[in-house]
Amino acid sequence: MTNTDTDIIIAGGGMVGAALACALAEQGFTITLLERREPDLEWPRDGYDIRVSAISRTSQNIFHNLGAWPHMTRRRVTPYEHMRVWESGGGTALPWAPQIQFHAADIGEPDLGHIIENRVIQGALWEQMQTLKNIEIRCPASISSLSLDEEAPSVILNDGTRMRAALIVAADGARSSLRELAGISTGGWGYDQTAVVCTVQAEAGNQSTCWQRFMPSGPLALLPMEQDLFSIVWSTTPKQAEKLLQMPPEAFDSALTQACEARPGRLRLLGERGAFPLRLQHAKQYIKPGLALVGDAAHVIHPLAGQGVNLGLMDMAELADILVLARNKGRPLGALHTLRRYERARKGENIAMQGAMDLFKRLFSNDIGPLRLARDLGMGLTEHAPLLKNLLIRNAMGILGEAPSLARAKQQG
Ligand SMILES: Cc1cc2nc3c(=O)[nH]c(=O)nc-3n(C[C@H](O)[C@H](O)[C@H](O)COP(=O)(O)OP(=O)(O)OC[C@H]3O[C@@H](n4cnc5c(N)ncnc54)[C@H](O)[C@@H]3O)c2cc1C
Repeated sequence: MTNTDTDIIIAGGGMVGAALACALAEQGFTITLLERREPDLEWPRDGYDIRVSAISRTSQNIFHNLGAWPHMTRRRVTPYEHMRVWESGGGTALPWAPQIQFHAADIGEPDLGHIIENRVIQGALWEQMQTLKNIEIRCPASISSLSLDEEAPSVILNDGTRMRAALIVAADGARSSLRELAGISTGGWGYDQTAVVCTVQAEAGNQSTCWQRFMPSGPLALLPMEQDLFSIVWSTTPKQAEKLLQMPPEAFDSALTQACEARPGRLRLLGERGAFPLRLQHAKQYIKPGLALVGDAAHVIHPLAGQGVNLGLMDMAELADILVLARNKGRPLGALHTLRRYERARKGENIAMQGAMDLFKRLFSNDIGPLRLARDLGMGLTEHAPLLKNLLIRNAMGILGEAPSLARAKQQG
């Protein structure tokens, strides 16, 4: 390795960047983490982040193996045991209701996953980073100029500081400025949908259940938190989203309760509402000499199956394995032949997941008769095919197939 200021510079201390910093520091690399904005690490217990993530079993394993899981459980995590997915209205001539249910007990698992507020995840990872001596956190800091090469890529920070490293990682989110500085273009499209997010209280409690209703305007997800709360992700047309954001709380409560057919009873808004325009985006390349993209900097996906950060965590776990292997073999961390292994391992999987979610979104945003009949038939057949259901749910939990070492359960104590 050439003489550098630090082994690895990570731009972005969100969920993926902070997890990567912990993983690489644990392996003995020196890390400089640059974060543009001071994260919110302290908040009142009765305040809820309107941004939450459905965390898969593999992501839970990653947090556990990084030592961050206890910091999360101490703050707040909510396991869920059931998932109910159904479609709006009746309409087809089929003898069964178009719905699917999944239960953790059916596959011998204690739960299907956890709902965790994003600031809980980020706060826990930042707490863990502070226990690792070989991580230097610079915040607020960002990169104004980038110079790439395989041996010693370098950056100039906004305050004029110059830094060299063996590798620079862009974990700076969907609008990655590092990706732009590196001249990596993206493909994709807007969904003409906006996700309205908020926290609500449910009259009938959350029943440890994730509910998802597909409507022609977009999916509505109710993600359980604590005993009687749900975090809502309501994807709909930008026009309806605007209306939902502007209407008085009581009118919003009625609209939401009606939209989910009052399955968990009447719902009542707690606190603020937020909105996120939805798009599919994919970086044309994940790597350049001396640079790797991870998480949303590389790919942005429709949130309907709650997979975005789970994919980003798999990116970072894979990259960590590849960098450890490269160091052990004496190969430069930023060399293309090192980084190509990472791109090969992750790009195909991320594109496949994006494609599947895109197909789902299109399939369910369409009310054409034969298409509706076909998907209701598909739902009904899946509901009555336990083996297929088990396969689907195990796939969503990330417990099928090969996983990078951090994502495996074996290191749990
Ligand atoms: C409505 C909605 C619901 C979702 N639900 C789920 C879900 O249930 N499950 C799931 O897995 N995913 C979900 N996602 C996706 C998930 O939120 C993202 O995939 C995830 O936040 C990406 O994490 P990241 O660390 O890659 O990027 P980000 O979370 O965007 O973090 C990037 C970090 O980089 C910092 N930064 C930005 N620019 C710079 C710079 N120039 N220099 C330094 N720092 C910089 C930012 O301040 C931020 O801290 C959802 C997304 C949406 C919109």
